[in-house]
Amino acid sequence: MIRIVFICLTLFILWSGYQSYQHPQLKFNSLLDRITHPFDTRLRYRIAEVDPRFKLSVEQVKEISQQATQIWNDGTGKEYFVYDPNAQLSIHLIYDERQIESELRRQHLTELDANQQQWRNKKKQLDQIEQTMMQNKQSLNLKRQQLDQQIQHYNQEQHAARLKPSSTAHQQYFQQRQQVLQQNIELLKQEIAQYNQKVIELNQKVDELNALDQQLSTSVSQYKQRFQPHLFHKGLFNGKQILIYELESKDDLKLTLAHEFGHALGLKHSDDPHALMHPIMKDQNAAHFRLTPADLNLLLAR
Ligand SMILES: [Zn+2]
Repeated sequence: MIRIVFICLTLFILWSGYQSYQHPQLKFNSLLDRITHPFDTRLRYRIAEVDPRFKLSVEQVKEISQQATQIWNDGTGKEYFVYDPNAQLSIHLIYDERQIESELRRQHLTELDANQQQWRNKKKQLDQIEQTMMQNKQSLNLKRQQLDQQIQHYNQEQHAARLKPSSTAHQQYFQQRQQVLQQNIELLKQEIAQYNQKVIELNQKVDELNALDQQLSTSVSQYKQRFQPHLFHKGLFNGKQILIYELESKDDLKLTLAHEFGHALGLKHSDDPHALMHPIMKDQNAAHFRLTPADLNLLLAR
């Protein structure tokens, strides 16, 4: 009897050693899981804790983790992971100063974007006003030219009339014309004064816009000073747990989890900035990510 148990145990150890060699992820499953699911090569994992300050429910994180495992399924055609509430490997979303800093950075960035948009809107408005003013100027110049011609005509006619004997009717005629001309000169003067006032107002607005531009530049350099690019790990895989410390969005969490799952499969980092296994999440297409050849090569080489 003891002999049979001994043989069975030896066979199990040999089998499980062979399986772990073939499927490195299996060493992160519990012994009980290995015994109860001897032919299942999938890594079992569960969501253990989600700090409520991340504003995500356990159910949502579970769904995101499944999307993360789907990246591996889609890229390889194999199923490497399975959700199991009793799994040994547990996922923890831990809220600390890293996430606080990250939220603060995004908040500042949103404000900067809004201010920049406001500046662009004002600039557009001013450009339109400037264009209208140009048209006004042209129309005023035209009116001035016309008035000059009318005055010239009047002077010529009056000069010619002086050489002839003048009647009262003639004098009245010139007086009336002079009055009309005088009125037109006054009207044009008013229009020019209004135009000049608008130019002053426009210049004030341009000054305001320039001041706003200056403020924006200061805000941008303050932002860069305050939030210098720093590298810290958003996630960590330690053999028993996947710890997540920072997430910018659901897609970002999905990619970070998929990256840590990659470590659980026994993968190291890749130099390719577009690869899932690159240590920095920046150049990957988080919304529609697909495994890169670099990721697949790492999987083959493990
Ligand atoms: Zn990593």
